Amino acid sequence: METIAPDVYLLDGFPKYAINVYLIGNIVVDAGARFQSTSILRQLAGRPLIAHILTHPHPDHQGASKAICERFNIPLWCGAEDAEAMNTGNWDTLFPHPTPLISAQNRMMAGPKYPVTRQLHEGDRIGDFMVIETPGHTPGHVAYWRERDRLLLLGDVLFNQHPLTTKVGLSEPLPFFTCDPARNRQSARKLAALQPSVICFGHGPPLYDSNAFQSFVANMPD
Ligand SMILES: [Zn+2]
Repeated sequence: METIAPDVYLLDGFPKYAINVYLIGNIVVDAGARFQSTSILRQLAGRPLIAHILTHPHPDHQGASKAICERFNIPLWCGAEDAEAMNTGNWDTLFPHPTPLISAQNRMMAGPKYPVTRQLHEGDRIGDFMVIETPGHTPGHVAYWRERDRLLLLGDVLFNQHPLTTKVGLSEPLPFFTCDPARNRQSARKLAALQPSVICFGHGPPLYDSNAFQSFVANMPD
């Protein structure tokens, strides 16, 4: 595991930073793709976990969710507008339109559905973190913000590694995986207004350059 800040860890993944899973205190944030389950469970073994939360339940973020919750006997929480998809396993509602590529990705990556026992809303406190609603990539996408050291986990509002080329750098999530790109940009502007110093992504390495983040967001189209 890589230490990003006090009480914030990034689990080892393969390839590194391709699909990120974090530990904040005793809470697991996101759960990778299904094929990462063994590695995730091994890295979390022996920890006194208390909850598992999602930025959003896309199949590359909820693959090990059921396995984690059952192994550690902990509850699953996610953004209110995404809870139905996680409860039912109907991932189609989390994409703009079904395509063969998305169906193939879901078959390869998705874990089983699992009941969400708490629906998260703007301003909810989770340990040291606060929930920020960031709809767009999915309808119920949320970010997690710790004001004390201005640390932000923003899920897939922006990527810091291109999913196809694996080149490191900021980009918007691919449009065919994003329900409402314009709304997602509004969410990115909302996060930039918080002036985060450390930014942790669903895809790509952490970013410690707040100017790079601010200028990328400022230059996005409407
Ligand atoms: Zn993702």
